[in-house]
Amino acid sequence: MQWGKTMKYNEIRKTFLDYFESHGHKIVPSASLIPNDPTLLFTVAGMVPWKGILQGTEPAFAPRVADVQKCIRAGGKHNDLDEVGFDGRHHTFFEMVGNWSFGDYFKAGAIEMSWDLLTRVLKLDPAKLRVTTHTSDEEATELWRKIAGKEAIRLGDHDNWWSAGDTGPCGPCTEIFYDFGDGIANDDDRWVEIWNDVFMQFDRDANGNLTPLPKQNVDTGGGLERWAAMMQGKTDNYDTDLFVNLKRAVSDVTHVAETPENVSSFKVITDHLRAVGFAVADGVIPSNTDRGYVIRRILRRAMRHGQLLGHRGALLSELYPALVREMGDAYPELAREQSRVVEIIRNEENAFADMLQNGMKLLENELPKLNNNVLPGDVAFKLFDTYGFPLDLTQMILRDRNIDVDVAGFERAMTEQKERSRADTKGTRTLWEAQNLPATDDSAKYAPNAEMESTVLGILRDGEFVKSANAGDAVEVALDKTNFYGTQGGQVGDSGEILRDGTSVMTVTEAARADGVVIHKGTLTGNLSVGDTVKTAINTSVRVQTTRAHTATHLLQAALQHVLNEDVHQRGSKVSPDSVRFDFSFGRAMTDAEKKAVEDLVNQWIAADMPVTHEEMSLDAAKEKGATALFNEKYGDTVKVITAGDVSCELCGGTHVYHTGEILKARVNKEKSISSGIRRITMSVGTLAE
Ligand SMILES: [Zn+2]
Repeated sequence: MQWGKTMKYNEIRKTFLDYFESHGHKIVPSASLIPNDPTLLFTVAGMVPWKGILQGTEPAFAPRVADVQKCIRAGGKHNDLDEVGFDGRHHTFFEMVGNWSFGDYFKAGAIEMSWDLLTRVLKLDPAKLRVTTHTSDEEATELWRKIAGKEAIRLGDHDNWWSAGDTGPCGPCTEIFYDFGDGIANDDDRWVEIWNDVFMQFDRDANGNLTPLPKQNVDTGGGLERWAAMMQGKTDNYDTDLFVNLKRAVSDVTHVAETPENVSSFKVITDHLRAVGFAVADGVIPSNTDRGYVIRRILRRAMRHGQLLGHRGALLSELYPALVREMGDAYPELAREQSRVVEIIRNEENAFADMLQNGMKLLENELPKLNNNVLPGDVAFKLFDTYGFPLDLTQMILRDRNIDVDVAGFERAMTEQKERSRADTKGTRTLWEAQNLPATDDSAKYAPNAEMESTVLGILRDGEFVKSANAGDAVEVALDKTNFYGTQGGQVGDSGEILRDGTSVMTVTEAARADGVVIHKGTLTGNLSVGDTVKTAINTSVRVQTTRAHTATHLLQAALQHVLNEDVHQRGSKVSPDSVRFDFSFGRAMTDAEKKAVEDLVNQWIAADMPVTHEEMSLDAAKEKGATALFNEKYGDTVKVITAGDVSCELCGGTHVYHTGEILKARVNKEKSISSGIRRITMSVGTLAE
């Protein structure tokens, strides 16, 4: 047999899907880059859309499935952004090929098909393939001997064991590596992982015991960009046909040829074109929050690399037609959304073009003044605040010149500005109260994803109420309805954005309250007038974290009463997305053992996954139920009562989880005195406590 076969990028994708279709798999289109999972900013792997099926909480729609999934790893836990451009293998956007068995075939079927596709269909030389298995997995190791005549390299948990968390489905995996050639000195670059077959075999309980799952699943994944490099004899993914064509489009738009000196910029721009183009096509709008901010940062980095090539102004919007040409057959949404995507990207690029030039001038003026090659935090903050340079953009610009940024100083400047704007809100409260606006209908704050339209009732700018205001204006806005939680009862208000006709017109940094009116405070990114019909979108990942923190605060109070004594009373609290601060009456410092006992108790209640009920009732009924009320809160006739299992029952208007398990974890940080007889304890919650 003749080994080796060159195949184009798009042909490989099709070959993969055709192969699994002919082996009884249902072929499904890629899911959106916006995952149906509030803990993730983007779809980061092929398994994300199937999490529910793999964990057994959703039924499988077919026993065998295969797809090629769009993925973005930038921002959050999974972040490759800083590495793009410096080697041949990092991408923020990539495609993951995968085949799935939901309780159908298992190890033998998966290994047979992987090997058959690689060696018979793609005609890869078996001598160039290596496989690994888990040390405990005799079955997979024996299958490799039988099917491929391969002796697997046996590795431990770090390399060859998969689990979604400390408990739940888990199992061994087998990985296939391809030899990119003995001319490559570094083993990690020479032997590259091309496919990972995960065998979800066991359920792990809290004591670490493994029980075989009733339905065993297979979850495989491989990077299409690496497969293209492998099939085209390239060591750099960016030298494959798809990227060569995209890089040529960059040359056409910038009128600059690719050279060894500028190749990084070509890689960054082509990578970022895919990330921004696909994300906006899937509905992400560049903004100052969440995934919108990740896309804004990526777009601005691409523009900076355009500038390095001597290009001015719009770049990715000019390149988008080339993306449609290269990938539009496989992803029809690219062409379908073209006019909208190009308009959104072009608006975003036009808004940043002048700021980029002016910000670079400021930066160049500052560089000669530096001490020890560190850019002061306040300069980085000015670039951020005035010129829209995300911190990582400034760091990227300075990386080549070996200059660091004082990140702590940047964060300090940011915090100071937030505190100033919070103080300003206090100053404007009397202005709002004098307007006598009707109380905002904010009942949707408890169902923040409900679709609704609102009307702009008031705009406050520079201490005056105006009929309309423009992009760039710092404003406070009142609406007739909102799903934003305005700061109240110790829980900080939501951030997010206000949209009109699907386009963001305001970045809301915090929602506050003036009596019954919710005040959206922030900066306009478009024009806004009183009477406009708008939609409100909160920053959901921040809200999820705040909600966890709030229920955790109730558990903390109960745990303190349990561990210390019944006389512990709440004297104040602050619930933020990243922490809980709880002040309580107690006459002495807590011992380390007491702190540990409180933390353990809270985590025990979280692990018990107790139901949390949200009920509305009369104040009298709540008192009868024994709900804890706060010493200085006023309550209406109807109150909300939040009950966590048999542990906590409190009057509270905040947002809460529905099961304590959603909190994930809690960690006590500090306990100290703040005044005579009053102690303050702080706690991290959720992913920040893990
Ligand atoms: Zn509360």
